[in-house]
Amino acid sequence: MKILLVLEFPLKLAEELQLISVLRRAGHKVRVAAAEKVLSLVTPAGWEALCGFRPVAFPEDGLPWAEVLVWNRLSRERARAARLRGCGRPMIDLGKPSRAAWSPDKVLARLEQLSQPQDFAGKTVLVTAGPTVEDIDPVRFITNRSSGKMGVAIAWAAAMRGARVLLVHGPMAAEVPQWPAVEALPVRSAQEMHDVVREHWQEAQVAVLCAAVADFRPDHYVPRKIKKIPGEGMVLSLERTPDILAELGAMPRHPFLVGFAAETDDVEINALNKLRKKHCDLLCANDIRQPGCGFAADTNQITVYAADGTVHRIPMMAKREAADEILKLVAKFTRFS
Ligand code: C5P
Repeated sequence: MKILLVLEFPLKLAEELQLISVLRRAGHKVRVAAAEKVLSLVTPAGWEALCGFRPVAFPEDGLPWAEVLVWNRLSRERARAARLRGCGRPMIDLGKPSRAAWSPDKVLARLEQLSQPQDFAGKTVLVTAGPTVEDIDPVRFITNRSSGKMGVAIAWAAAMRGARVLLVHGPMAAEVPQWPAVEALPVRSAQEMHDVVREHWQEAQVAVLCAAVADFRPDHYVPRKIKKIPGEGMVLSLERTPDILAELGAMPRHPFLVGFAAETDDVEINALNKLRKKHCDLLCANDIRQPGCGFAADTNQITVYAADGTVHRIPMMAKREAADEILKLVAKFTRFS
């Protein structure tokens, strides 16, 4: 995007200069319109090296060029005037020094949101992500290899398209998106994930269940560390955990339901079985034996089976982009867009 960064005051100049390089690294074009007192702090050649452009006069010169205005220290009157002059161009206010600090990442996220259609505005999307952990005793547990990356990518993509997101997640390596519209609800066990989903599913119009929920848990928890007996093995007795997706699918008026299936064999047959048995609207299947697919990878290749019998292939791409493709399908099927 073409960004006009308006610097009225050299508030935290080092951070604002860093913002310019972060924005440019992310592929944006940045011009600076700065007040004299800000301009004088860096040489003209320095500004040009930093932005690739000479700074423009404060600030009208850059306005016709810019798609987005990023502004520091905007008084309310100035904001109103700038909005009028900006002819409806979106504006990101870096705020006054007293306000919560912005970070380059937050500005980047806001820019990403501005470039996305807001077809999920006013909708709530419930996402489950990551593994669950089933405790055996205070030191041992059963879990799986899920990194949570795909669920986090879905949460992010939904938030960028304007949704409020409830992210119910097990203990996971992936970072929870720091975005006001994403509410993280951390859990540990399959039972806890089930209970939190049951508490919130009625708020959601869409539920995307990405979590790798443990299928089995110890049939009882031993509150003290189990001692090993020399020469003896141990038998662990397991019971099934609740199937959250199947339970939601069995509800008479459930949200639009998206399930996932990570398979190693007979991907299509297994995926279609799950779609029907769990009453999903969409089932996203991936063959985790393929290179670049699966738990810890940053990429994924997904085939989406829809309840109406259509099949949609998403070629190998970054999980973030694949998540966006899935949400486009959701928007199409639910007629959000
Ligand atoms: O049957 P399978 O575990 O392969 O089904 C995968 C799908 O079901 C995923 O969407 C997963 O999040 C969901 N699931 C669930 N609760 C379980 C097991 C799986 O919600 N106990």
